[in-house]
This record gives sequence, C-alpha cells and structure tokens, in this order.
Amino acid sequence: MTGTVAFVTGASSGIGAATGRELARRGAAVALVARRKDRLEQLAAEIQGEGGRALVVGTDITDQRQAIDAVERTVAELGRLDTVVNNAGVMLLGPIVDAPTAEWDRMVALNLQGLLYVAHAALPHLLTAADSGPRNVADLVNISSVAGRRATPNSGVYNLTKFGVNAFTESLRQEVTERRVRVSVVEPGAVVTELADHLREEIRETAMRVFADVEKLQADDIADAIAYIVTRPRRVAVNEMLIRPTEQV
Ligand code: NDP
Repeated sequence: MTGTVAFVTGASSGIGAATGRELARRGAAVALVARRKDRLEQLAAEIQGEGGRALVVGTDITDQRQAIDAVERTVAELGRLDTVVNNAGVMLLGPIVDAPTAEWDRMVALNLQGLLYVAHAALPHLLTAADSGPRNVADLVNISSVAGRRATPNSGVYNLTKFGVNAFTESLRQEVTERRVRVSVVEPGAVVTELADHLREEIRETAMRVFADVEKLQADDIADAIAYIVTRPRRVAVNEMLIRPTEQV
C-alpha cells in the first residue's frame, strides 16, 4: 500500500485501532479518526515508531461538518485518499419495548448517519484516486456485523442499522464499481473489543452469557480481513466477508 492514504474511523480502540496499525504496516499513510485524541496519539506514536506515517484526526463523525473536515484535512495533509474504512459504531442492545430511545438515536447517528457522512465526503477523492495513483483502484470498506444479516431478539435497532449498512454498501457498489471504487462490507461475529462496555449493566450480563463459552475473535483477525480486501489486485473485488468465531453458532 506504499504511496496510498487510508482513513480509518473508530481508530481509538478495537477493530479500528488494529486496522490502522495493519494498514500502516503495509505501507499506507493512515488518518486515525475518532473522538478520543489521546488514544489516537498513542497509536500514531506506535505507528511512527515502526517507521509508518499516521495523522491524528480528532473527530465526531456524527457531526457532518466534522466528518467533512476530517476527510478534507486528510487529503490536504497526506495528499490523497485511496482507502476508507468506515468502522466506527456502537451497539446498544436491549428489548424494543420500553427502550431508552436515546440509545436508538446514538446508534442511528453513528452507525448510519456518521457512516454516510464519511462516505459522501470521501467518494469524490476515492473516484480521483481510482483514476490516478499507484494502484488505479480505491476502496471503501464498511464494517457491518453478523447482525447485518440475521435479526435476533434484543438487537432490533442495532440490526436495523447494520442491515442498513449492508443495503447501502451493495447499492453504492453497483453505482461506482465500474469506476474502480470497490465497496465492500465486512460482517464480524463476536470480537474482543470495548463494544460491549457501552451496554446497560443488566443487558451486558445477558449478552456476555451468550458468548461465554466461545473463543472470540481478536481485533487483529478483522484487521487482517480488511487488509486482504484492500490489497487485492485491481481486477478482484471482495464484495462481502462474514467472519465468525469458529464456535459461534
Ligand atoms: P469499540 O467500541 O472498541 O470501537 C468503537 C470505535 O468507534 C471507537 O474507536 C470509538 O472512538 C469510535 N466512535 C464512537 N463514537 C464515535 C463518533 N461519534 N465519532 C467517531 N468515532 C466514534 O468497538 P469495535 O472495535 O468492536 O467496533 C468497531 C465496529 O465493529 C463497529 O461498527 C461495530 O458495530 C462492529 N462490530 C463489532 C463486533 C464486536 O464483537 N466487537 C461484532 C460485529 C461488528 P471514540 O470513543 O474515541 O470516538
């Protein structure tokens, strides 16, 4: 990926941090995007320590102005934009009946609107990169979930957002693939990250019990899959990747 620039949202923890690290190892200059700048700075220092290039972009992508500014700053400072990993997301599980609807608002604002704002701001640059650059192809990878393929109780609005990510990905893929912007969706099963930390206490206990006996995926496993997708030869588009822990039914 030498000579290319990647933009990774949710890079302050979990899958996004692992992906930032992995793409930098493969030679991309990486814009690290999230709200917790201290965490991004630690990761940037680590990447730079290994000889890589990283830009810290403290951003709340649910604010469209900030999402646009993050993309524009990346292009201004790193020179171009070849790869976007739309990873930031939140999972607030629980029954729909009597749900605190503020949780729904948070999921829709980040998992859908934030992802859309980033895609919209990045696409003109990805189309340019696909026409000019070291690879003549560009990538937009959206992180969905097993929850984007299968609805289950206590996951209704999270399912809604991730099914939406899958549908948007496929429509956009059809729109831009002939212009060599590859649009892919990755659907992880249970991964060890901070995702469950945001659940209400009583919900977290139940959710944890479901996967208690499962050896979960590591964030690096998903970063590896993303790196595979974005390093394929120009003629190969991996449209969709579903990755579960082996013991997850
Ligand atoms: P984490 O909670 O570890 O990471 C979520 C990331 O999103 C953090 O870096 C967080 O950074 C960032 N984020 C949250 N709000 C915003 C915001 N408003 N603006 C910018 N960034 C934001 O979870 P994961 O790594 O697990 O999650 C990554 C993706 O993977 C999500 O889309 C999730 O739905 C998906 N996924 C995860 C699975 C799992 O089992 N872990 C399974 C299937 C899918 P900060 O707080 O600093 O802004």
